Amino acid sequence: MKIPFVDLKLLHSEIKEELRDVFDRVLNESTFVLGPEVQRFEQEFAAYVGTTHCVAVNTGTAAIQLALAALGIGSGDEVITVPHTFIATAEAITAVGARPVFIDIDPVSFTMNPALLEAAISSKTRAIIPVHIYGQVADMDRILEISNLHGIPVVEDACQAHGAEYKGRKAGAFGIAGCFSFYPGKNLGACGEGGAVTTDDGDLAQRIRLWRDHGSSKRYEHIFPGLNMRMDGLQGGILSVKLKYLDRWNNQRRQAAAAYDKAFVDTDIEIPNEMDYGHHVYHLYVVQTSNRDALRHQLTDAGIESGLHYPIPLHLQEAYRFLGYKEGDFPVAERVKNRILSLPMYPGIRTQTIERVVSELRESCHVG
Ligand SMILES: *Cc1c(COP(=O)(O)O)cnc(C)c1O
Repeated sequence: MKIPFVDLKLLHSEIKEELRDVFDRVLNESTFVLGPEVQRFEQEFAAYVGTTHCVAVNTGTAAIQLALAALGIGSGDEVITVPHTFIATAEAITAVGARPVFIDIDPVSFTMNPALLEAAISSKTRAIIPVHIYGQVADMDRILEISNLHGIPVVEDACQAHGAEYKGRKAGAFGIAGCFSFYPGKNLGACGEGGAVTTDDGDLAQRIRLWRDHGSSKRYEHIFPGLNMRMDGLQGGILSVKLKYLDRWNNQRRQAAAAYDKAFVDTDIEIPNEMDYGHHVYHLYVVQTSNRDALRHQLTDAGIESGLHYPIPLHLQEAYRFLGYKEGDFPVAERVKNRILSLPMYPGIRTQTIERVVSELRESCHVG
């Protein structure tokens, strides 16, 4: 039997009736863009994250872009982030016309290394975007301390971290804005595209609302030229249903991670580190090994899907060649890209499935 990397069919089979009800409701109401379902989800998600506002948009990329745009960031400005992330983090920066400035990650957490942050700040720096990669929050105390010292706002890329915590507070509640993706495979996923910005700043929330809807708060009256990045009514309703299950699903991910962790103890496969400060929600379960490519081939031959998150750090991507970075600039990101391997991880993954993945890997890694 093939083992998938994620199993969305399994997830949705459990809640099919509830999702059908959403379709019925939205069809009866026929408000397909924004509307009451989206408004309700915004309130519920803000309450979940612990912020006063949430603005629902159409993707996670848009969430970051609109947060930056609403902060007034544009051409001539610099935004500091990490090269070890999905390209969307940097695309949101270039989309507003600003320049991404990369700093390396911490070798233990794989998130932004705060020790490198101050040296990267220039007179043009307008925001800092830590990425809560794989479902683990970055070291927010140290990042926020530097942010406060220099008066530079933090925008969190929480696109992989729905429900993740740092010292008891949720991802998305630390910066001036928290940005989430509801792409179907994320810990909280729509049945299509979706995203949101969480914030405690009412003015910022209002500006993001304008940005997502053509700079308009009243039909056909436009305060500035904005964009169309609104959430669908259907997705709002679906996300409200799924939000109720998020903590349960995250716990299932944590249990699966614990089962993997235990099975790898006597091998030379390095398990992911859960930091003392945090509550990891394992959007991805990423191990490290020196013979990654061989292990990955072996899994593929055995019908087991795996992933690489990500194979090329952003500073070495063709798309960002114009930034002028070169190989060797970010040694940690460059080292881990050859060692990482993402194993099957999803809520409801069975113990036997984990055992099969592990036994396949144990055959070719060093045990003892
Ligand atoms: C998924 C993701 C995004 C972008 O979200 P979309 O909804 O796909 O636009 C941004 N950053 C990170 C780290 C992500 O994983």
